[in-house]
Amino acid sequence: MKDTIWIYPGSFDPPTYGHVNIIERASKLCGHLIVAVLENYEKTSLFSVDERVNMLQEVVKGLDNVEVTSFSGLQVDFYKHKNASAVVRGLRTSGDFDYEVFLAHGIRMMDPDYEVVFLATESRYSCISSSAVRALAAFGGDVSAFVPSYVEKKVREKFKEKYL
Ligand code: ADP
Repeated sequence: MKDTIWIYPGSFDPPTYGHVNIIERASKLCGHLIVAVLENYEKTSLFSVDERVNMLQEVVKGLDNVEVTSFSGLQVDFYKHKNASAVVRGLRTSGDFDYEVFLAHGIRMMDPDYEVVFLATESRYSCISSSAVRALAAFGGDVSAFVPSYVEKKVREKFKEKYL
């Protein structure tokens, strides 16, 4: 699988240790991994797309075959455009599984060549989500167990900028 291009799409608002773990593991399984921040028209985000790309670039610095970018529009179009052979998604719970499989079936109806690789999270990261980080940080909670220190700093700055 060393000559393959995989895509890891997501909101990453903000990136957590759970995301970083999936990136590290996926990067060992493929030739080139594109971490792609989705500009989601449905979601209002805490961080701008550029801020999320910047945080991800910082936390994947040591990984030579990982690129961070952003995209808008249909995931399947981005997939084809990049000539990817699989999309990576992380699974924490049965809720993730149901949602992800539903999504994969829908996308495969548009493109039968679309493949998804699911990586089960490491148990210590199974309770980590970006939304929990945002909620905790909004009330001044300590998020250092959930996100890399660079991201923690950015989260603290963001809430200061918003509320002080
Ligand atoms: P999305 O809005 O696309 O679900 P997220 O940034 O929340 O974006 O998640 C991107 C991907 O990372 C999804 O496949 C999600 O299940 C996975 N993921 C999120 N948190 C974790 C975690 N703690 N461990 C493993 N995978 C995770």
